[in-house]
Amino acid sequence: MLNRKVHIVGAGLAGCEAALFLASKGVKVDIYESKRIERNMAQSSDNFAELVCSNSFRGLTNAVGELKKELIEAKSPLFTVALDVKVPAGNALAVDRERFSEVITNKILNNPNIRVIEEEITDFDRFGDDFVIVATGPLTTPKLIEKIQELIGVKNFYFFDAIAPIVDAESLNYDKVFRASRWGRGETEEGDYLNCPMNKEEFENFITLLRDAEKVSFHEFEKDGYFEGCLPIEVMLERSPDMLRYGPMKPVGLKNPKEPDVRYYAVVQLRVENLEGTHYNLVGFQTKLTYPEQKRVFSSIPGLESADFARYGSIHRNSFINAPLSMNENLSLKNRENIFISGQLSGVEGYVESIAMGFLTALSIYRELTNSKLTVPNRFTALGSLYSHLINSNPENFQPSNINFSLFQPLGLSKIGKKERDLKRSQYAFENFCEWLKGENL
Ligand SMILES: Cc1cc2nc3c(=O)[nH]c(=O)nc-3n(C[C@H](O)[C@H](O)[C@H](O)COP(=O)(O)OP(=O)(O)OC[C@H]3O[C@@H](n4cnc5c(N)ncnc54)[C@H](O)[C@@H]3O)c2cc1C
Repeated sequence: MLNRKVHIVGAGLAGCEAALFLASKGVKVDIYESKRIERNMAQSSDNFAELVCSNSFRGLTNAVGELKKELIEAKSPLFTVALDVKVPAGNALAVDRERFSEVITNKILNNPNIRVIEEEITDFDRFGDDFVIVATGPLTTPKLIEKIQELIGVKNFYFFDAIAPIVDAESLNYDKVFRASRWGRGETEEGDYLNCPMNKEEFENFITLLRDAEKVSFHEFEKDGYFEGCLPIEVMLERSPDMLRYGPMKPVGLKNPKEPDVRYYAVVQLRVENLEGTHYNLVGFQTKLTYPEQKRVFSSIPGLESADFARYGSIHRNSFINAPLSMNENLSLKNRENIFISGQLSGVEGYVESIAMGFLTALSIYRELTNSKLTVPNRFTALGSLYSHLINSNPENFQPSNINFSLFQPLGLSKIGKKERDLKRSQYAFENFCEWLKGENL
């Protein structure tokens, strides 16, 4: 079976990770890359596995740190190179960007099991029933997007992500937030949402902070506008404060059981993020504010004074599929089971996460080639949590995610401080990961 060919479209982070993993197992791989014919707006080098923006793989002691630790333990080909070319970066793993791509490019070009084809792939017909990994990233070429849309349906392919911040439920001030559904119409009797109420003065203070806050600038190719359905809150404010009060901060129909006769001027709603109820997202609060500014400005919302942010909000150009609707548990497409979607296109966000998906997709195909099935680590681990986000999220409001502790299965460690809790979560995650890895015999 191992002589069945695998085609990988895109020699970016996920594609290179998958190619090197499969080649190390003796699988013959063809990898297709279009950048030497025509670069996209973010690319500036001809090498593969290009880090198009920052040269950092982010922190070491948080959820993304845990994901890296797991990938390093599993001998991820790209992280093996990253460790060889790392540069001093405090509590982060950063690399010499040029060396990183150069070493990986040479490994790909010199691997006897890998054939590189410099070509833009525009359809899948030529691959017949061979396995195909589509790892063409957030800037997939338009012709290929059309083909993916044909496979999964136009409405299941997105061009912008609109990510709202997520806060830890334990860090909320329950003297101020109250539970209610709008007009009492929810699925639970006590109310589906937590609500942060504001009087006029608090709202005006909030919009002053928001108006003056520092924002992340646009990339050139993002300037063609947002979808009206997911405008950043600061853009709504620029149009009119009323757009917020009649939009995501609408107060009508929300009654606080503690003061049922009070009518609030504005309300920020928090929607539960996971079944365990450990985290909440700020509904409709996608934003281009910088991370420190999000902490500062959103902490002025009543009830969020001491909020711990598990994830900050963002909004940018990004191609991705509705993974929970379109993908099987082995990461193949429901409508074409020989085609697997990987990297950022599958609905994860970030360098480390894209590499993680390259690793997992390659493992899944390797299992198919050896007549077994993919088993994934449990949701106490970072890799298992990321996978679960793609496969088990609610397809109705699916958005890409980077790895963060709100995706992990909770450990029930509520009585200890955040730092100690994160440490314990990481230790437990790593133990679980090593247990899984032992069983995989890789
Ligand atoms: C401008 C920008 C900046 C980013 N900055 C960061 C950051 O600083 N930190 C971070 O963690 N994440 C960042 N990301 C998000 C994301 O992590 C990276 O884009 C990451 O490289 C995604 O990995 P990938 O393997 O999915 O895709 P990519 O690494 O983008 O690889 C996809 C490859 O497929 C090729 N390709 C596309 N279409 C075709 C086709 N039809 N045929 C053949 N080849 C094709 C492309 O040329 C590319 O080489 C950024 C994204 C963008 C767009």
